[in-house]
Amino acid sequence: MTTRPRPALLDADVQGFFVDGAQVAPRSPDVFATVDPTTEQVLTHLGVATPEEVDGAVRAARAAFETWSATPAAQRARVLLQIADVVEAHREELATLDALDMGVPVVGARMMVDHAVQVYRHYAGWPTKLTGHTAPGGAPGQLLYTLRQPIGVVASIVAWNGPVLQTSWKLAPALAAGNAVVLKPSEHSSLSALRLARLLASTDLPPGAVNVVTGTGAVTGQALVSHPGVDKVSFTGSGPVGKGIVRTGADTLKRVTLELGGKSPVIVLPDADLKAAAAGAAAGFCLGTGQACVAGTRIFVHDGVREEFGAHLSDALGRFTPGDPFEETTTMGPLAFRAHLDRVTGYFAVAEEEGARITRGGERLDRTGYFVAPTLVEGVRNDMRIAREEVFGPVAALLGYTDPEDALRQANDTTYGLSASVWTRDLSTAHRFAERLQAGTVWVNTWGGIEPGPVPFGGVKQSGLGREHGPDALLAYTEEKTVSIQL
Ligand code: NAD
Repeated sequence: MTTRPRPALLDADVQGFFVDGAQVAPRSPDVFATVDPTTEQVLTHLGVATPEEVDGAVRAARAAFETWSATPAAQRARVLLQIADVVEAHREELATLDALDMGVPVVGARMMVDHAVQVYRHYAGWPTKLTGHTAPGGAPGQLLYTLRQPIGVVASIVAWNGPVLQTSWKLAPALAAGNAVVLKPSEHSSLSALRLARLLASTDLPPGAVNVVTGTGAVTGQALVSHPGVDKVSFTGSGPVGKGIVRTGADTLKRVTLELGGKSPVIVLPDADLKAAAAGAAAGFCLGTGQACVAGTRIFVHDGVREEFGAHLSDALGRFTPGDPFEETTTMGPLAFRAHLDRVTGYFAVAEEEGARITRGGERLDRTGYFVAPTLVEGVRNDMRIAREEVFGPVAALLGYTDPEDALRQANDTTYGLSASVWTRDLSTAHRFAERLQAGTVWVNTWGGIEPGPVPFGGVKQSGLGREHGPDALLAYTEEKTVSIQL
Protein backbone atom coordinates (compact mmCIF):
# COMPACT_ATOMS: atom_id res chain seq x y z
CA MET A 1 0.00 0.00 0.00
CA THR A 2 1.10 3.56 -0.71
CA THR A 3 2.57 5.47 2.23
CA ARG A 4 -0.07 7.70 3.74
CA PRO A 5 1.06 11.15 4.81
CA ARG A 6 -0.08 12.17 8.30
CA PRO A 7 -0.44 15.93 8.79
CA ALA A 8 0.22 17.17 12.33
CA LEU A 9 -3.46 18.03 12.83
CA LEU A 10 -4.08 14.30 13.20
CA ASP A 11 -1.79 14.09 16.24
CA ALA A 12 -4.79 15.07 18.35
CA ASP A 13 -7.12 12.16 18.97
CA VAL A 14 -10.07 14.55 19.35
CA GLN A 15 -10.30 17.73 17.30
CA GLY A 16 -11.57 20.90 18.94
CA PHE A 17 -13.75 23.62 17.49
CA PHE A 18 -12.41 27.03 16.56
CA VAL A 19 -14.21 29.90 18.23
CA ASP A 20 -13.19 33.52 18.69
CA GLY A 21 -9.75 32.89 17.27
CA ALA A 22 -8.88 29.97 19.54
CA GLN A 23 -9.23 26.21 19.74
CA VAL A 24 -11.99 25.05 22.06
CA ALA A 25 -12.26 21.46 23.27
CA PRO A 26 -15.71 19.90 22.81
CA ARG A 27 -17.58 19.83 26.13
CA SER A 28 -19.56 16.71 25.31
CA PRO A 29 -17.74 13.36 25.45
CA ASP A 30 -20.00 12.37 22.57
CA VAL A 31 -17.31 12.46 19.84
CA PHE A 32 -17.32 10.43 16.62
CA ALA A 33 -14.64 8.88 14.44
CA THR A 34 -13.71 10.22 11.04
CA VAL A 35 -12.51 7.38 8.83
CA ASP A 36 -10.13 7.25 5.86
CA PRO A 37 -12.32 5.70 3.13
CA THR A 38 -9.28 4.18 1.41
CA THR A 39 -7.95 2.24 4.40
CA GLU A 40 -11.16 2.11 6.50
CA GLN A 41 -8.96 3.20 9.45
CA VAL A 42 -9.90 5.89 11.95
CA LEU A 43 -8.06 9.16 11.31
CA THR A 44 -9.14 11.12 14.39
CA HIS A 45 -12.31 12.02 16.29
CA LEU A 46 -14.59 15.02 15.90
CA GLY A 47 -16.71 16.78 18.47
CA VAL A 48 -20.41 17.38 18.08
CA ALA A 49 -21.05 21.03 18.95
CA THR A 50 -24.08 21.28 21.19
CA PRO A 51 -26.63 24.10 20.92
CA GLU A 52 -24.75 25.88 23.77
CA GLU A 53 -21.45 25.59 21.93
CA VAL A 54 -23.08 26.78 18.71
CA ASP A 55 -24.46 29.71 20.66
CA GLY A 56 -20.93 30.56 21.81
CA ALA A 57 -19.73 30.56 18.19
CA VAL A 58 -22.63 32.75 17.06
CA ARG A 59 -21.92 35.23 19.88
CA ALA A 60 -18.24 35.37 18.92
CA ALA A 61 -19.25 36.01 15.31
CA ARG A 62 -21.66 38.77 16.37
CA ALA A 63 -18.94 40.54 18.36
CA ALA A 64 -16.43 40.20 15.49
CA PHE A 65 -19.02 41.48 13.03
CA GLU A 66 -18.93 44.86 14.78
CA THR A 67 -15.18 45.11 14.07
CA TRP A 68 -15.05 43.48 10.66
CA SER A 69 -18.00 45.33 9.14
CA ALA A 70 -16.42 48.63 10.23
CA THR A 71 -13.00 47.67 8.82
CA PRO A 72 -12.10 49.87 5.81
CA ALA A 73 -12.75 48.17 2.49
CA ALA A 74 -9.10 48.30 1.43
CA GLN A 75 -8.08 46.52 4.64
CA ARG A 76 -10.72 43.82 4.10
CA ALA A 77 -9.30 43.35 0.60
CA ARG A 78 -5.80 43.01 2.06
CA VAL A 79 -6.95 40.37 4.55
CA LEU A 80 -8.63 38.35 1.79
CA LEU A 81 -5.34 38.41 -0.11
CA GLN A 82 -3.58 37.19 3.06
CA ILE A 83 -6.08 34.33 3.28
CA ALA A 84 -5.37 33.41 -0.36
CA ASP A 85 -1.63 33.45 0.37
CA VAL A 86 -1.86 31.31 3.49
CA VAL A 87 -4.07 28.75 1.74
CA GLU A 88 -1.66 28.66 -1.18
CA ALA A 89 1.32 28.23 1.13
CA HIS A 90 -0.38 25.22 2.76
CA ARG A 91 -1.61 23.71 -0.51
CA GLU A 92 -0.09 20.29 0.04
CA GLU A 93 -1.25 19.96 3.63
CA LEU A 94 -4.83 21.01 2.87
CA ALA A 95 -4.99 18.76 -0.20
CA THR A 96 -3.62 15.88 1.86
CA LEU A 97 -6.27 16.35 4.53
CA ASP A 98 -9.07 16.28 1.95
CA ALA A 99 -7.56 13.23 0.23
CA LEU A 100 -7.32 11.36 3.53
CA ASP A 101 -10.72 12.48 4.74
CA MET A 102 -12.94 11.88 1.72
CA GLY A 103 -10.79 9.89 -0.69
CA VAL A 104 -10.41 12.42 -3.48
CA PRO A 105 -7.22 11.80 -5.51
CA VAL A 106 -4.57 14.15 -4.14
CA VAL A 107 -4.01 15.50 -7.66
CA GLY A 108 -7.64 16.64 -7.76
CA ALA A 109 -7.48 17.89 -4.17
CA ARG A 110 -4.55 20.15 -5.11
CA MET A 111 -6.58 21.54 -8.01
CA MET A 112 -9.40 22.30 -5.60
CA VAL A 113 -7.02 24.18 -3.30
CA ASP A 114 -5.76 26.15 -6.32
CA HIS A 115 -9.35 26.96 -7.21
CA ALA A 116 -10.02 28.14 -3.65
CA VAL A 117 -6.97 30.43 -3.77
CA GLN A 118 -8.33 32.04 -6.92
CA VAL A 119 -11.73 32.49 -5.32
CA TYR A 120 -10.21 34.34 -2.33
CA ARG A 121 -8.18 36.51 -4.72
CA HIS A 122 -11.23 37.20 -6.86
CA TYR A 123 -13.29 38.41 -3.93
CA ALA A 124 -10.35 40.41 -2.57
CA GLY A 125 -11.03 42.72 -5.50
CA TRP A 126 -14.58 43.40 -4.43
CA PRO A 127 -14.67 45.22 -1.07
CA THR A 128 -13.31 48.38 -2.69
CA LYS A 129 -15.92 48.22 -5.47
CA LEU A 130 -18.98 47.45 -3.39
CA THR A 131 -21.03 50.63 -3.56
CA GLY A 132 -24.58 51.85 -3.37
CA HIS A 133 -25.86 54.42 -5.84
CA THR A 134 -27.51 57.80 -5.98
CA ALA A 135 -30.85 58.31 -7.65
CA PRO A 136 -32.87 61.30 -8.76
CA GLY A 137 -35.16 62.38 -5.89
CA GLY A 138 -38.87 62.81 -6.44
CA ALA A 139 -39.09 66.19 -4.65
CA PRO A 140 -37.03 69.39 -4.99
CA GLY A 141 -34.08 69.28 -2.59
CA GLN A 142 -34.33 65.54 -1.99
CA LEU A 143 -31.07 63.57 -1.81
CA LEU A 144 -31.72 59.90 -2.54
CA TYR A 145 -29.03 57.24 -2.30
CA THR A 146 -28.40 53.66 -1.23
CA LEU A 147 -25.86 51.96 1.02
CA ARG A 148 -24.67 48.38 0.49
CA GLN A 149 -24.25 46.85 3.93
CA PRO A 150 -23.32 43.39 5.21
CA ILE A 151 -26.12 41.22 6.57
CA GLY A 152 -24.48 40.18 9.86
CA VAL A 153 -23.76 36.65 11.06
CA VAL A 154 -23.75 33.99 8.35
CA ALA A 155 -24.04 30.25 8.94
CA SER A 156 -22.06 28.52 6.20
CA ILE A 157 -22.85 24.83 5.91
CA VAL A 158 -21.08 22.68 3.35
CA ALA A 159 -21.28 19.18 1.90
CA TRP A 160 -18.43 16.66 2.08
CA ASN A 161 -17.39 16.46 -1.54
CA GLY A 162 -15.15 19.51 -1.98
CA PRO A 163 -14.29 20.84 1.45
CA VAL A 164 -11.57 23.45 0.75
CA LEU A 165 -13.25 24.56 -2.45
CA GLN A 166 -16.81 24.87 -1.11
CA THR A 167 -15.53 26.65 1.99
CA SER A 168 -13.90 29.29 -0.20
CA TRP A 169 -17.17 29.80 -2.08
CA LYS A 170 -18.82 30.62 1.25
CA LEU A 171 -16.13 32.51 3.13
CA ALA A 172 -14.72 34.73 0.38
CA PRO A 173 -17.88 36.66 -0.62
CA ALA A 174 -19.26 36.71 2.94
CA LEU A 175 -16.05 38.23 4.31
CA ALA A 176 -15.58 40.55 1.34
CA ALA A 177 -18.98 42.07 2.07
CA GLY A 178 -18.11 42.50 5.78
CA ASN A 179 -20.02 39.62 7.40
CA ALA A 180 -18.84 37.27 10.15
CA VAL A 181 -19.22 33.52 9.71
CA VAL A 182 -19.88 30.35 11.65
CA LEU A 183 -18.79 27.51 9.39
CA LYS A 184 -20.03 23.96 9.81
CA PRO A 185 -18.19 21.54 7.58
CA SER A 186 -19.65 18.15 6.76
CA GLU A 187 -19.21 15.53 9.46
CA HIS A 188 -17.60 13.39 6.71
CA SER A 189 -14.86 15.87 5.79
CA SER A 190 -14.17 18.44 8.51
CA LEU A 191 -10.40 18.24 8.74
CA SER A 192 -9.32 20.83 6.18
CA ALA A 193 -11.79 23.37 7.61
CA LEU A 194 -10.31 22.88 11.08
CA ARG A 195 -6.82 23.39 9.68
CA LEU A 196 -7.96 26.42 7.70
CA ALA A 197 -9.38 27.99 10.86
CA ARG A 198 -5.96 27.76 12.52
CA LEU A 199 -4.33 29.24 9.42
CA LEU A 200 -6.74 32.17 9.49
CA ALA A 201 -5.41 33.02 12.94
CA SER A 202 -2.12 33.91 11.26
CA THR A 203 -3.81 36.61 9.16
CA ASP A 204 -5.19 39.99 10.22
CA LEU A 205 -8.76 38.69 10.19
CA PRO A 206 -10.26 39.67 13.55
CA PRO A 207 -10.75 36.73 15.96
CA GLY A 208 -14.33 35.48 15.72
CA ALA A 209 -14.86 36.66 12.13
CA VAL A 210 -14.67 32.98 11.12
CA ASN A 211 -15.57 30.26 13.63
CA VAL A 212 -15.70 26.55 12.89
CA VAL A 213 -17.94 24.08 14.70
CA THR A 214 -18.10 20.41 13.79
CA GLY A 215 -20.83 17.88 14.30
CA THR A 216 -23.81 16.19 12.79
CA GLY A 217 -26.47 17.97 10.80
CA ALA A 218 -29.19 16.94 13.19
CA VAL A 219 -27.49 18.43 16.26
CA THR A 220 -24.94 21.07 15.26
CA GLY A 221 -26.40 22.05 11.88
CA GLN A 222 -29.90 22.30 13.23
CA ALA A 223 -28.74 24.40 16.21
CA LEU A 224 -27.05 26.77 13.81
CA VAL A 225 -29.88 27.24 11.33
CA SER A 226 -32.46 27.71 14.11
CA HIS A 227 -30.30 30.18 16.07
CA PRO A 228 -32.01 33.59 16.23
CA GLY A 229 -28.61 35.32 16.05
CA VAL A 230 -27.90 33.94 12.59
CA ASP A 231 -29.00 36.35 9.86
CA LYS A 232 -28.23 34.28 6.78
CA VAL A 233 -27.68 30.63 5.97
CA SER A 234 -25.58 29.69 2.98
CA PHE A 235 -26.00 25.97 2.47
CA THR A 236 -24.52 23.39 0.13
CA GLY A 237 -25.99 19.91 0.37
CA SER A 238 -28.98 17.77 -0.38
CA GLY A 239 -32.44 18.93 -1.37
CA PRO A 240 -34.36 17.60 1.64
CA VAL A 241 -32.00 19.29 4.10
CA GLY A 242 -32.06 22.49 2.07
CA LYS A 243 -35.85 22.59 2.12
CA GLY A 244 -35.80 21.98 5.89
CA ILE A 245 -33.45 24.95 6.29
CA VAL A 246 -35.87 27.21 4.42
CA ARG A 247 -38.67 26.06 6.75
CA THR A 248 -36.58 26.53 9.90
CA GLY A 249 -35.24 29.88 8.76
CA ALA A 250 -38.74 31.14 8.03
CA ASP A 251 -39.36 31.78 11.74
CA THR A 252 -36.80 34.57 11.81
CA LEU A 253 -36.86 35.26 8.05
CA LYS A 254 -33.23 34.32 7.59
CA ARG A 255 -31.76 35.04 4.20
CA VAL A 256 -31.05 31.67 2.58
CA THR A 257 -28.84 30.59 -0.31
CA LEU A 258 -29.06 26.93 -1.35
CA GLU A 259 -26.69 24.94 -3.56
CA LEU A 260 -28.33 21.55 -3.95
CA GLY A 261 -28.10 18.43 -6.06
CA GLY A 262 -28.51 17.58 -9.71
CA LYS A 263 -29.26 14.91 -12.27
CA SER A 264 -27.51 16.62 -15.12
CA PRO A 265 -28.08 15.67 -18.74
CA VAL A 266 -25.36 15.21 -21.35
CA ILE A 267 -26.69 15.46 -24.91
CA VAL A 268 -24.55 14.09 -27.71
CA LEU A 269 -25.72 15.28 -31.14
CA PRO A 270 -24.85 13.14 -34.19
CA ASP A 271 -22.43 15.76 -35.56
CA ALA A 272 -20.39 15.93 -32.33
CA ASP A 273 -16.71 15.10 -31.97
CA LEU A 274 -17.63 11.72 -30.50
CA LYS A 275 -14.24 10.98 -28.98
CA ALA A 276 -14.19 14.30 -27.12
CA ALA A 277 -17.84 13.87 -26.13
CA ALA A 278 -17.15 10.41 -24.72
CA ALA A 279 -14.13 11.66 -22.77
CA GLY A 280 -16.25 14.52 -21.38
CA ALA A 281 -19.13 12.21 -20.54
CA ALA A 282 -16.84 9.74 -18.75
CA ALA A 283 -15.20 12.50 -16.70
CA GLY A 284 -18.66 13.93 -16.12
CA PHE A 285 -19.76 11.06 -13.93
CA CYS A 286 -16.43 9.59 -12.76
CA LEU A 287 -14.38 12.57 -11.58
CA GLY A 288 -14.72 12.83 -7.83
CA THR A 289 -16.06 9.24 -7.98
CA GLY A 290 -19.30 10.77 -9.20
CA GLN A 291 -19.72 12.66 -5.93
CA ALA A 292 -20.19 15.91 -7.80
CA CYS A 293 -23.34 18.01 -7.76
CA VAL A 294 -22.81 18.69 -11.47
CA ALA A 295 -22.21 15.03 -12.38
CA GLY A 296 -23.55 14.27 -15.86
CA THR A 297 -25.52 11.14 -15.03
CA ARG A 298 -28.04 11.00 -17.88
CA ILE A 299 -26.22 10.62 -21.18
CA PHE A 300 -28.47 11.03 -24.23
CA VAL A 301 -26.79 9.75 -27.39
CA HIS A 302 -28.29 9.91 -30.88
CA ASP A 303 -29.16 6.38 -32.08
CA GLY A 304 -27.22 6.92 -35.31
CA VAL A 305 -23.89 7.29 -33.46
CA ARG A 306 -24.57 5.18 -30.40
CA GLU A 307 -22.28 2.34 -31.35
CA GLU A 308 -19.35 4.58 -32.21
CA PHE A 309 -19.90 6.71 -29.12
CA GLY A 310 -20.18 3.56 -26.98
CA ALA A 311 -16.75 2.37 -28.13
CA HIS A 312 -15.16 5.74 -27.30
CA LEU A 313 -16.96 5.82 -23.94
CA SER A 314 -15.65 2.39 -23.10
CA ASP A 315 -12.08 3.57 -23.84
CA ALA A 316 -12.58 6.72 -21.80
CA LEU A 317 -13.99 4.81 -18.82
CA GLY A 318 -10.94 2.56 -18.91
CA ARG A 319 -8.95 5.56 -17.72
CA PHE A 320 -11.04 5.73 -14.52
CA THR A 321 -9.66 2.78 -12.64
CA PRO A 322 -10.27 3.19 -8.93
CA GLY A 323 -7.04 3.52 -6.96
CA ASP A 324 -5.26 4.96 -3.95
CA PRO A 325 -5.75 8.75 -3.80
CA PHE A 326 -2.06 9.23 -3.00
CA GLU A 327 -0.87 7.57 -6.23
CA GLU A 328 -0.15 10.49 -8.55
CA THR A 329 -1.74 8.56 -11.44
CA THR A 330 -5.03 7.78 -9.68
CA THR A 331 -8.05 9.31 -11.39
CA MET A 332 -10.78 7.91 -9.14
CA GLY A 333 -10.70 7.32 -5.39
CA PRO A 334 -13.16 5.52 -3.12
CA LEU A 335 -16.57 6.79 -2.10
CA ALA A 336 -16.33 9.04 0.93
CA PHE A 337 -17.84 6.90 3.69
CA ARG A 338 -19.39 3.53 4.42
CA ALA A 339 -23.05 4.57 4.52
CA HIS A 340 -22.60 6.28 1.19
CA LEU A 341 -21.06 3.13 -0.33
CA ASP A 342 -24.18 1.23 0.78
CA ARG A 343 -26.42 3.90 -0.70
CA VAL A 344 -24.65 3.91 -4.08
CA THR A 345 -24.48 0.12 -4.40
CA GLY A 346 -28.15 -0.04 -3.33
CA TYR A 347 -28.98 1.76 -6.58
CA PHE A 348 -27.53 -1.14 -8.60
CA ALA A 349 -30.33 -3.36 -7.29
CA VAL A 350 -32.92 -0.62 -7.72
CA ALA A 351 -31.97 -0.20 -11.40
CA GLU A 352 -32.21 -3.92 -12.11
CA GLU A 353 -35.47 -4.34 -10.20
CA GLU A 354 -36.98 -1.62 -12.39
CA GLY A 355 -35.91 -3.48 -15.53
CA ALA A 356 -32.76 -1.56 -16.50
CA ARG A 357 -29.53 -3.41 -17.39
CA ILE A 358 -26.13 -2.75 -15.85
CA THR A 359 -23.71 -3.07 -18.75
CA ARG A 360 -20.51 -2.04 -16.99
CA GLY A 361 -19.40 -1.99 -13.34
CA GLY A 362 -22.24 -2.38 -10.88
CA GLU A 363 -20.25 -3.77 -7.98
CA ARG A 364 -18.15 -2.92 -4.97
CA LEU A 365 -14.52 -3.78 -5.67
CA ASP A 366 -13.00 -6.68 -3.78
CA ARG A 367 -10.38 -4.71 -1.85
CA THR A 368 -10.09 -2.64 1.30
CA GLY A 369 -11.78 0.75 0.95
CA TYR A 370 -15.12 1.96 -0.30
CA PHE A 371 -14.35 1.45 -3.99
CA VAL A 372 -16.84 0.94 -6.80
CA ALA A 373 -16.20 0.71 -10.53
CA PRO A 374 -17.61 3.17 -13.09
CA THR A 375 -21.12 1.89 -13.78
CA LEU A 376 -23.26 2.25 -16.88
CA VAL A 377 -26.95 1.46 -16.88
CA GLU A 378 -28.83 0.91 -20.14
CA GLY A 379 -32.44 0.20 -21.02
CA VAL A 380 -33.36 3.11 -18.76
CA ARG A 381 -36.66 4.97 -19.05
CA ASN A 382 -36.84 8.52 -17.80
CA ASP A 383 -39.45 7.56 -15.19
CA MET A 384 -37.16 5.04 -13.45
CA ARG A 385 -35.57 5.99 -10.13
CA ILE A 386 -32.10 5.56 -11.63
CA ALA A 387 -32.98 8.32 -14.12
CA ARG A 388 -34.66 10.61 -11.60
CA GLU A 389 -32.76 10.37 -8.30
CA GLU A 390 -29.30 11.67 -7.55
CA VAL A 391 -27.04 8.65 -6.88
CA PHE A 392 -23.90 10.71 -6.13
CA GLY A 393 -21.59 7.95 -7.29
CA PRO A 394 -19.91 6.95 -10.58
CA VAL A 395 -23.15 5.71 -12.11
CA ALA A 396 -24.72 6.99 -15.33
CA ALA A 397 -27.72 6.07 -17.44
CA LEU A 398 -27.06 5.76 -21.17
CA LEU A 399 -30.17 6.70 -23.14
CA GLY A 400 -30.81 6.80 -26.87
CA TYR A 401 -32.88 9.22 -28.97
CA THR A 402 -33.69 9.89 -32.61
CA ASP A 403 -35.26 13.33 -32.45
CA PRO A 404 -33.16 16.12 -30.84
CA GLU A 405 -36.38 17.80 -29.66
CA ASP A 406 -37.20 14.63 -27.77
CA ALA A 407 -33.71 14.57 -26.20
CA LEU A 408 -34.21 18.15 -25.07
CA ARG A 409 -37.64 17.36 -23.64
CA GLN A 410 -36.31 14.36 -21.72
CA ALA A 411 -33.26 16.29 -20.53
CA ASN A 412 -35.56 18.90 -19.02
CA ASP A 413 -37.94 16.30 -17.60
CA THR A 414 -36.39 16.37 -14.12
CA THR A 415 -36.98 18.23 -10.89
CA TYR A 416 -33.32 19.29 -10.93
CA GLY A 417 -31.65 22.05 -12.93
CA LEU A 418 -28.04 22.50 -11.88
CA SER A 419 -26.08 21.93 -15.08
CA ALA A 420 -26.21 20.37 -18.54
CA SER A 421 -23.80 19.74 -21.35
CA VAL A 422 -24.31 19.50 -25.07
CA TRP A 423 -21.90 18.20 -27.67
CA THR A 424 -22.25 19.43 -31.27
CA ARG A 425 -20.18 21.08 -33.99
CA ASP A 426 -23.12 23.18 -35.13
CA LEU A 427 -23.10 26.67 -33.66
CA SER A 428 -26.83 27.25 -34.08
CA THR A 429 -27.69 23.96 -32.38
CA ALA A 430 -25.31 24.84 -29.54
CA HIS A 431 -26.97 28.20 -28.93
CA ARG A 432 -30.49 26.81 -29.23
CA PHE A 433 -29.78 24.05 -26.71
CA ALA A 434 -27.99 26.46 -24.37
CA GLU A 435 -31.06 28.66 -24.38
CA ARG A 436 -33.60 25.90 -23.86
CA LEU A 437 -31.87 23.58 -21.38
CA GLN A 438 -33.28 24.22 -17.91
CA ALA A 439 -30.05 24.54 -15.95
CA GLY A 440 -28.01 27.11 -14.04
CA THR A 441 -24.96 26.29 -16.16
CA VAL A 442 -24.77 24.87 -19.70
CA TRP A 443 -21.47 23.58 -21.03
CA VAL A 444 -21.00 23.23 -24.79
CA ASN A 445 -18.33 20.79 -25.99
CA THR A 446 -16.89 20.70 -22.50
CA TRP A 447 -17.94 19.61 -19.06
CA GLY A 448 -17.63 20.62 -15.44
CA GLY A 449 -15.61 23.82 -15.41
CA ILE A 450 -16.72 26.14 -12.62
CA GLU A 451 -14.91 29.43 -12.90
CA PRO A 452 -13.39 30.63 -9.62
CA GLY A 453 -15.29 33.87 -9.25
CA PRO A 454 -16.28 35.72 -12.38
CA VAL A 455 -19.63 34.16 -13.38
CA PRO A 456 -22.46 32.83 -11.24
CA PHE A 457 -22.92 29.17 -10.38
CA GLY A 458 -26.14 27.70 -9.04
CA GLY A 459 -29.27 25.82 -9.83
CA VAL A 460 -32.73 26.42 -11.22
CA LYS A 461 -35.79 24.38 -10.20
CA GLN A 462 -34.99 22.20 -7.17
CA SER A 463 -31.22 22.48 -7.58
CA GLY A 464 -30.98 25.63 -5.57
CA LEU A 465 -31.86 29.13 -4.59
CA GLY A 466 -29.53 32.00 -5.41
CA ARG A 467 -26.04 31.82 -6.80
CA GLU A 468 -22.44 31.43 -5.73
CA HIS A 469 -19.59 33.20 -7.53
CA GLY A 470 -19.87 36.39 -9.48
CA PRO A 471 -21.31 39.66 -8.26
CA ASP A 472 -24.60 37.86 -7.47
CA ALA A 473 -22.99 35.89 -4.65
CA LEU A 474 -21.46 39.00 -3.17
CA LEU A 475 -24.69 40.99 -3.31
CA ALA A 476 -26.51 38.09 -1.64
CA TYR A 477 -24.34 38.78 1.43
CA THR A 478 -25.53 42.39 1.59
CA GLU A 479 -28.65 44.41 2.22
CA GLU A 480 -29.23 47.58 0.21
CA LYS A 481 -30.48 50.40 2.38
CA THR A 482 -32.24 53.44 0.92
CA VAL A 483 -31.48 56.85 2.43
CA SER A 484 -33.74 59.76 1.58
CA ILE A 485 -32.72 63.23 2.84
CA GLN A 486 -34.66 66.43 2.44
CA LEU A 487 -32.03 69.14 2.13
P1 NAD B 1 -26.43 16.80 3.31
O1 NAD B 1 -27.60 17.65 3.00
O2 NAD B 1 -26.66 15.51 3.97
O3 NAD B 1 -25.41 17.58 4.27
C1 NAD B 1 -24.86 18.82 3.90
C2 NAD B 1 -24.47 19.57 5.15
O4 NAD B 1 -25.66 19.89 5.87
C3 NAD B 1 -23.59 18.78 6.12
O5 NAD B 1 -22.66 19.66 6.70
C4 NAD B 1 -24.59 18.30 7.14
O6 NAD B 1 -24.04 18.04 8.40
C5 NAD B 1 -25.54 19.46 7.20
N1 NAD B 1 -26.89 19.15 7.69
C6 NAD B 1 -27.55 17.97 7.61
N2 NAD B 1 -28.77 18.08 8.21
C7 NAD B 1 -28.86 19.36 8.65
C8 NAD B 1 -29.88 20.10 9.32
N3 NAD B 1 -31.03 19.54 9.67
N4 NAD B 1 -29.66 21.39 9.59
C9 NAD B 1 -28.51 21.98 9.22
N5 NAD B 1 -27.50 21.35 8.60
C10 NAD B 1 -27.68 20.04 8.31
O7 NAD B 1 -25.63 16.67 1.96
P2 NAD B 1 -24.33 15.82 1.71
O8 NAD B 1 -24.78 14.41 1.66
O9 NAD B 1 -23.26 16.23 2.64
O10 NAD B 1 -23.87 16.32 0.27
C11 NAD B 1 -24.34 15.79 -0.91
C12 NAD B 1 -25.35 16.72 -1.53
O11 NAD B 1 -24.79 18.02 -1.70
C13 NAD B 1 -25.73 16.26 -2.92
O12 NAD B 1 -27.12 16.40 -3.10
C14 NAD B 1 -24.96 17.22 -3.81
O13 NAD B 1 -25.48 17.36 -5.10
C15 NAD B 1 -25.02 18.47 -3.03
N6 NAD B 1 -23.97 19.41 -3.44
C16 NAD B 1 -24.32 20.55 -4.13
C17 NAD B 1 -23.34 21.43 -4.58
C18 NAD B 1 -23.70 22.68 -5.33
O14 NAD B 1 -22.87 23.59 -5.40
N7 NAD B 1 -24.89 22.79 -5.91
C19 NAD B 1 -22.00 21.16 -4.32
C20 NAD B 1 -21.69 19.99 -3.64
C21 NAD B 1 -22.67 19.13 -3.19
